[in-house]
Amino acid sequence: METSAKVSASKYNNKFKLNDNFMIIDFEANFNNYEEKILNNYKIFNYTCPVCGAKHSLSRHAKYKRYTCILYKNTICFDTIEILRLKCSSCGKTHAILPSNIIPYCVYSYSCIFTVLFVTFF
Ligand SMILES: [Zn+2]
Repeated sequence: METSAKVSASKYNNKFKLNDNFMIIDFEANFNNYEEKILNNYKIFNYTCPVCGAKHSLSRHAKYKRYTCILYKNTICFDTIEILRLKCSSCGKTHAILPSNIIPYCVYSYSCIFTVLFVTFF
């Protein structure tokens, strides 16, 4: 029988498992061409699964909306972008495909952060 401390540690480990659902950053995709290159791509994806290392095993799984702060015409603005998730047929894990200008787990894009730093310090 588990004690309450073990149960909560177990819940914590299940919630924050490492090496599970990695995000894949596609450096050929950005905000402007993400829809064309990733969302509307129904061909085989050439990514390697970051969990099991299988090649060409990722297929379309789901999409989700993600809020992000981007720089558009020298103005910082909030926008949503649809992110595609792929599922590995080998290990069953899902991976989000991010465009190169989005920082994982961060609302602000690289262009937004660099602009704020530049305006603040130069
Ligand atoms: Zn895999």
